[in-house]
Amino acid sequence: MTNPIAAACRSCRKGSMQPIERMQTYAPPGTDGVVITQLAARCDQCGKETVLPSQMDENLRRRAARKAHYGLYLLGEEIFAFRRKYGLTQQAASRLFGKGIIAFSRYESEKSYPDESTTKLIRAAMRHPALLKELADESGVEIPLWEARCADEREREQVSLATSRRPKTSLPRPTVQFLELMEQRTGPLRSAKASNIGATKANRRQKAPAAR
Ligand SMILES: [Zn+2]
Repeated sequence: MTNPIAAACRSCRKGSMQPIERMQTYAPPGTDGVVITQLAARCDQCGKETVLPSQMDENLRRRAARKAHYGLYLLGEEIFAFRRKYGLTQQAASRLFGKGIIAFSRYESEKSYPDESTTKLIRAAMRHPALLKELADESGVEIPLWEARCADEREREQVSLATSRRPKTSLPRPTVQFLELMEQRTGPLRSAKASNIGATKANRRQKAPAAR
């Protein structure tokens, strides 16, 4: 992957930013460590290092790719996104899942990983908001965005209901095939009928002179 850079150093304003790569190692349980190469830039004059805006998408993509090595375990980003979705602080999330106060800070930065049972509990709460609410109530934690997320859920249900009312998407495939078949049939059937009538009239006309 190329690392195109033509940026001047914003720090010393003399040098230019040269591409460098930084290795980051993540060590979820059950792996020897997953090494991700991240793009960055270093000033050739003052040595200042930074990640340029143009490098961020590629870095995100590379970090997301490590998911394939994680098995059951969650990426720090996934835990972060889940917590933020409900407006929970790291401390509140730690308490909700019965962990020490700095647990979520460590999980999100992957300084440590939740044990297997906690990982399973977090994953279950991701899938089932009602479970998250139950855990929160039990531990006296308020979920700031609970109502907002419930409203999202109701909206999603209404959208899926409205979609299912549309006949074309709601009809089972065999029914659609049957209706298409009938449509094809009624065309030829009608013209066959019409030509029959025509034929009958023609027969009568033919017969009529013959009868005279
Ligand atoms: Zn510089």
